[in-house]
Amino acid sequence: MVQLYSRCLGRAAVPTLLNLPVEMLLFIADHLSSTPEGILALALTCRSLFHVFRSDMAKLRNHQCRSNLLLLLEKDLGDRFFYCSMCCQLHSFPPWWKFGRLSDIQSPLLSDTKHRQQRFWPGTAGYRMYVSFAHARLVMNRHLYGAPKGLPLGNLDVESTWAWSTVDCPMWQQRLSARIFGDELFLRVAHTIEGTDTTLRKALDEAMLYRVCTDVVGYDYGLRRVLALAGEPEDDGEMQQEEGKKKAGARSSLRTCRDELGSCTICLTDYTTAIERSEIRIGPVVDGWRVTITAYHGVGGCRDVEDWRWVALVGANTGYGIDFSAALDGRDTAAFPPGWVMQKWQAADHLPEDHP
Ligand SMILES: [Zn+2]
Ligand SMILES: [Zn+2]
Repeated sequence: MVQLYSRCLGRAAVPTLLNLPVEMLLFIADHLSSTPEGILALALTCRSLFHVFRSDMAKLRNHQCRSNLLLLLEKDLGDRFFYCSMCCQLHSFPPWWKFGRLSDIQSPLLSDTKHRQQRFWPGTAGYRMYVSFAHARLVMNRHLYGAPKGLPLGNLDVESTWAWSTVDCPMWQQRLSARIFGDELFLRVAHTIEGTDTTLRKALDEAMLYRVCTDVVGYDYGLRRVLALAGEPEDDGEMQQEEGKKKAGARSSLRTCRDELGSCTICLTDYTTAIERSEIRIGPVVDGWRVTITAYHGVGGCRDVEDWRWVALVGANTGYGIDFSAALDGRDTAAFPPGWVMQKWQAADHLPEDHP
C-alpha cells in the first residue's frame, strides 16, 4: 500500500505537511486518534510520515481497522480500485470497463468461485446477463463519490439478451435497467416471451430453472408459481374438463391480464405480469400470445456482500463462508409490503437521470 501511494503521489516536491514542526504533526495525530485508519492514512502519504507513525501500522492487523482504511483509500482511488469486503482488499478494474456494457465486461479476477457466486442471475443461470456484486458496488461508488470514480449507471443497462427456459420452445428476451434512489440501487428486468398457446404453455411449465429471483423460480411447477401464469385449477374434475376443451380447441390455457402484481416473500422483488394477444411469425403469421414479466429488485447500497438485501437476492448462489443469517427471516412485509420496490422504482424513474 505504501508503494501504491508513493506511485500515486509521484515525485512531487516536499509535501507541505512535512514543513510542519514535529509537534504539530503529533497534534494532528492526536486529533485523528479516535479513528486509527485516519492516522494510518496520514502515515501512508509519504515515507517520512510513514516513519513517524510506523508503530501505528500494527493496527492494520485488526480487520475492522484495515477495512476502514481501505474504504478511505477507495474514496480517493475509486477510478481504478474498489473495495472487496470478501477479500478485505482493494481490487483494480481496467479503464475500459467504463465504456463497456455489463455483458461486455469479464474479468479473470472476478471469475474465481468466491467472486462468481456473488452474482444476481435473473432468467437462466449460465447466460450472459448477470449483475455481479463488484459491478453493483462500482455503480454505487460513482453515485457516492462522483466521476471518475466507479462506473456509470448506464453500465447496467442491457437493451436485449436472450435465454432459454426449456428446449424446443421460444426464447425469453430480457431487458435490464438500473436506477438509484435514496443511495440504494434498484434493478428492473423485463422478461418477454412470445409464441403459440401450446409452445408458451410448454415453455412456462418446463421452465424448471428459469428465475424471476432466487425464490420465484420454476422448480417442479415451472412458472405456474407466478399466479398469472398458473392457468386453470388442477383438480381432477377441472383437469378433465380442461382436457376436453383443449381437444375441442375451445379455449386457451392462458388468460389475458395486465400488470398483475406479485411479490417475493424472501427478497426485495416485486413483479408484474402481462399476458396479451400477439401476432407471431412461424412461417405464416399466426395468432399467438405475448407474456411479459417485469421484475423490480431492491439491491441495497452494495457496501457489503452480507447485506441482507443482496444475500436474499443472490440466495442459493451465496458463497461458502458468507453470513446470510440476516436474510433467513425473509422480507419484512411490514417495512417492505408487496409493491414497495415497484413504487420506489417508479419514484426514481421520475427523478433526473443519474448518469454521471
Ligand atoms: Zn475480492
Ligand atoms: Zn426473491
